[in-house]
Amino acid sequence: MNRRLSLVRCLYLAAATAGGLWMPGCGAGDSRSDDPAAGSLRVVCTTGQIADMLRNIGGPHVTVDPLMGPGVDPHLYKATPGDIRKLNSADAVFYNGLHLEGRLADLLQKLARRRPAYAVTDGVRQNQSRLLREIPGSEAHYDPHVWLDVLLWARCVEYAAEKLIALDAEHADDYRRRADAYLAELAELHESCRQRLSEIPKVQRVMVTAHDAFGYFGDAYDVEVHGLQGISTADETDLATANRLVDMLVKRRIKSVFVESSVPPKNIRSLVEACAARGHTVRVCEKELYSDALGPGGTPAETYAGMVRYNVETIVEALK
Ligand SMILES: [Zn+2]
Repeated sequence: MNRRLSLVRCLYLAAATAGGLWMPGCGAGDSRSDDPAAGSLRVVCTTGQIADMLRNIGGPHVTVDPLMGPGVDPHLYKATPGDIRKLNSADAVFYNGLHLEGRLADLLQKLARRRPAYAVTDGVRQNQSRLLREIPGSEAHYDPHVWLDVLLWARCVEYAAEKLIALDAEHADDYRRRADAYLAELAELHESCRQRLSEIPKVQRVMVTAHDAFGYFGDAYDVEVHGLQGISTADETDLATANRLVDMLVKRRIKSVFVESSVPPKNIRSLVEACAARGHTVRVCEKELYSDALGPGGTPAETYAGMVRYNVETIVEALK
């Protein structure tokens, strides 16, 4: 940990001890309190995919505490009083940015004045914004679902690694080595996704999902994607979009549509009924896709790479 952060932490610990303050994340089960060398940098992040990235780069030097668990919708997430305490006591905060965490935007902006806070998508936005998908007429301006293109997410991994190195220069070599190993794993993952998805005949390579999360995925892996809702789950579903999708599903005899773990399936089911009324049977894929949240602990989708593999296998099985 660098000197400034060490000082902040020491002062905070001294105040906490003197005043009997409750320290979130520093209870009996927290490894930091048992072993001062373990996870010396305490980082709070928003989504599971960012937590997984930070654990991969940080290894034993970072304790990662995500606010959002499996099945949680980041577009609609509001901070709890416990979250605010965690954010205020973290050495650094990492979030997605590009308005993904729309309801935390003010909080994160205020927090950034007092402690290190980084939007991982700045790794793309700052120098290569041409790689981002623009959303005309949206306050968000860019599509935030960058992690669904593995190579684009790798740029965010690079950015987070730079920030961890700046925060904790003492372990720079270790962060660099771990980041490089993770980036190599992601490059391989990207290639295997591309190959696997190319096995679906082009005309059937069409994904209809509850919200428009898979734009980057579609661009990266040559899949035509359609969302019933817009980029955010806070967007309204408009009737014209629903009718257009029903027309497309019927005309092209598409076999399956998809539900997502973090979005209620109601609207997708209504599409299926509308297709049935026009004599075309489309089924809802029985496995949920993980768009905006990782899968539960103990499942193959509990890590970022596992989530991507699981989604790709699910899509290939459903559409091939
Ligand atoms: Zn989303």
